[in-house]
Amino acid sequence: MRGDEFDVGDIAQRAGTGSIPDSDRIDAALAGAYERARRHDEGAVADYIPILARADAHAFGLCVAQGDGRLHEVGDTRIPFSIQSISKVFVYALLCDAIGRQRALEVVGVNNTGSAFNSVIAIELNRGHPMNPMVNAGAIATTAMLPGATTEANWHLVQTGLSRFAGRDLIVDDEVYRSESATNERNRAIAELLSSYGRIEGDPLAALDVYTRQCSLLVDARDLAVMGATLAHGGVNPVTGERVVSADVCRDALAVLAASGLYERSGEWLFDIGLPGKSGVSGGIVTVAPGKGGLGAYSPPLDSAGNSVRGQIATAYLTRALGLNLFASEPRVGEEA
Ligand code: GLN
Repeated sequence: MRGDEFDVGDIAQRAGTGSIPDSDRIDAALAGAYERARRHDEGAVADYIPILARADAHAFGLCVAQGDGRLHEVGDTRIPFSIQSISKVFVYALLCDAIGRQRALEVVGVNNTGSAFNSVIAIELNRGHPMNPMVNAGAIATTAMLPGATTEANWHLVQTGLSRFAGRDLIVDDEVYRSESATNERNRAIAELLSSYGRIEGDPLAALDVYTRQCSLLVDARDLAVMGATLAHGGVNPVTGERVVSADVCRDALAVLAASGLYERSGEWLFDIGLPGKSGVSGGIVTVAPGKGGLGAYSPPLDSAGNSVRGQIATAYLTRALGLNLFASEPRVGEEA
């Protein structure tokens, strides 16, 4: 039954319950989150992709996008950075929308590896199964499965698809693309290993090239918020009004994010924040409150698992201040002890 749709008839409810607080409270919560997180200067800017080491460690921006398209911003929300791993959730959504959840489930999976984003051991331990689309192995397999007739057609699907999530044309940072392409021996090994297990059809290095380009697309914190809000609102971009993917695809992609969006720290993230989120090594984090909105955070210094330190602290503050944790509940009125 796994992977099949259930017919739940009249009780189907896609959106989360409740609503996001009003604009004044969002602005106050953003200011509080910014002040609290700004004081933290732990962490280190990623340098395994050489050009990322040049990022400004002090840059810090937060943006909330509401379902009606209203944006709330504080700090450096217009500094462009490469989207990196955050692209994975959007490409996975595009793939599921194109070929259906079942095929993607069989090839890519939805379970956490418990290992780092670029783990090779996790692939070997699972007999070549990449496990989920949020680690590099699963993301490369996801990109490889896109239905374009050629590599360039697949790249077009990725670039136009992510642009529709953002509501504007996203472009590649060529320097980042070249820097990562010249130093991604580990991802090449992962792509070849997947190919040896029959998990990639066609040329694994061509699929990796599309993946590397997708990671080099430039976004800012505001884009991440809008992209997250699109997943939060059944696949319709709240700023442009354009449908990007189906509501069922959003539901599935968010479930996968909740399990694996922060790699081996996904449990701690869910425990602290209670929402699906996705991080990237350039310092971005997107967080999605289903039916309520999207949050984009940017601050380059990372913890040891490759997740933005300030981004995590600010997101935890915001989700508490705005009451967004999916697991929080109150006793029913009149039933308190
Ligand atoms: N492009 C990066 C890589 O493949 C993305 C990793 C990340 O953001 N965690 O290594």
